[in-house]
Amino acid sequence: MSYSEDRSEWYEGQGHWQHVPAEQWQSWIWQLKNRITTREQLEQFMTLTPDEKAGVAFAGQKLSLAITPYFFNLIDRDDPNCPIRLQMIPREGETKVSAGEMLDSLGEDEHSPVPGIVHRYPDRVLFLVTDRCAAYCRYCTRSRLVSNAQDYNFHPEYEQGLRYIESHPEVRDVLLSGGDPLLLSDRKLEHLLARLREIPHVEFIRIGSRIPVFLPQRITPELCDIFKRYGPIWMSVHLNHPREATAELKAAFERLSFAGVPLGNQSVLLAGVNDDPDVMKALVHRLLRMRVRPYYLYQMDLITGGSHFKVDVRKGLDIIRALRGHTTGYAIPQYVVDAPGGGGKVPLNPDYVESINDEEVVFRNFEGKQFRYPLVGATGAPLSNSPEALVE
Ligand SMILES: *Cc1c(COP(=O)(O)O)cnc(C)c1O
Repeated sequence: MSYSEDRSEWYEGQGHWQHVPAEQWQSWIWQLKNRITTREQLEQFMTLTPDEKAGVAFAGQKLSLAITPYFFNLIDRDDPNCPIRLQMIPREGETKVSAGEMLDSLGEDEHSPVPGIVHRYPDRVLFLVTDRCAAYCRYCTRSRLVSNAQDYNFHPEYEQGLRYIESHPEVRDVLLSGGDPLLLSDRKLEHLLARLREIPHVEFIRIGSRIPVFLPQRITPELCDIFKRYGPIWMSVHLNHPREATAELKAAFERLSFAGVPLGNQSVLLAGVNDDPDVMKALVHRLLRMRVRPYYLYQMDLITGGSHFKVDVRKGLDIIRALRGHTTGYAIPQYVVDAPGGGGKVPLNPDYVESINDEEVVFRNFEGKQFRYPLVGATGAPLSNSPEALVE
């Protein structure tokens, strides 16, 4: 498979919703109210495959179906393998449980001292502030609680969460996530950010959000003013495929960026969506052009009903190898696997070192050429260009 751009450079427009006045289309509330959430609504626009029909019928028990009109326009109705379609329309694979799959594959519930807080790493916490998103990714790592299709009944306790952070001086980094924190009203979000900023030991605040991608209309000047007021607020966004990079999204990232929000991207490696070096290269290049630094590329978590998305780790390593040296270093995300059961993120890196001993390290470069680098220590003699040698 090789990726070629089959749309205009930065796709834009109202697509199926030409009849809607532009000012409604631009309203994030209108976009949320008019989401596609049922099989009947889907079938007004497209013909579902039998695979999708089985998935849609099961969604109510697993993870709700919801797609904003803006994002739905990016689906190619004539292509059952469209990378946007694969991420958004449920498939039969969701009804199956494969070996090793778990509801809470990262053991988050065990690391939760109070509802909504996950404290796995010594110096930082994940603060889940809602179980709702603008649209639902079929491979969601928090399917167990997000959208409440499984009756998890998640109730974030903001006060308890804030008090936990206040009383733990080792927490210098707070990551707001969910669900999607940008679904909260400006008032609620401002309250949370203001309270976090008052805590002297909290140095770093970031928000994990796919709202810019699903609902760029939410990135209003008022929201950007809040980020300016309580900044620096960092943001981890989530694009998986270059087709998600629209003119509207580019403008939303500009608004965030000009409000002083540094942007990083987290992708999930997904079968048929982005498990291809050409697709990944097109994505990371688009990200840089939109002021977004690729941050992580995730190996899929072992969530129940996710096996149809799984990619062989060797393929992931090949993708990183196809990027390193072949394109801008800033464009290359760190490939990671979140250890099943709750061990945290572990980097997965292609191996360039062929051998290493007291005398030298032998490695290959991005072109496969072999090089040797002599090490100090075999004889104890410093290298001739070391500071000590220069002083003598
Ligand atoms: C991913 C994650 C973080 C943040 O990790 P970084 O490597 O700092 O981005 C924090 N807490 C939990 C529980 C996480 O899963």
